[in-house]
Amino acid sequence: MGGVLLAGTCQAPFDIGESVSAAGAAAAKAAALLARGHVELDPFVAEVDLSRCNGTGNCVAACLNDGALTLVDTNVEGQTVQRAQVTPALCLGCGACVAVCPENAININGMTLKQYEAMVDMIVAETEAA
Ligand code: SF4
Repeated sequence: MGGVLLAGTCQAPFDIGESVSAAGAAAAKAAALLARGHVELDPFVAEVDLSRCNGTGNCVAACLNDGALTLVDTNVEGQTVQRAQVTPALCLGCGACVAVCPENAININGMTLKQYEAMVDMIVAETEAA
């Protein structure tokens, strides 16, 4: 799980010395992260195509990480409508939202639905040729 550092007996049965050592190691990892002053995010996260999204909310219901995907009010041609919005820092890149969107309005960066379909077509073509 991202952003959680484990220490002590939640990892395994430890005596007090081992627990203190694990706590020190976790503190050192946290200090190293904070010292950088920034966090690098995984680029392979979901992205919503707003020209296709119609705000069904299926993706929000399917999302595996609370807050990674939300419906937000957006102004489209003078009307307030709801559209999906990804919070990249919380997105796991799992693709659960991609699978349930009836409009194909969500893709994972670096692994779009078109790329995935092309990969499956090639696998099927190679299987048929063999
Ligand atoms: S890729 Fe997974 S974590 Fe990210 S928005 Fe979609 S369902 Fe949520």
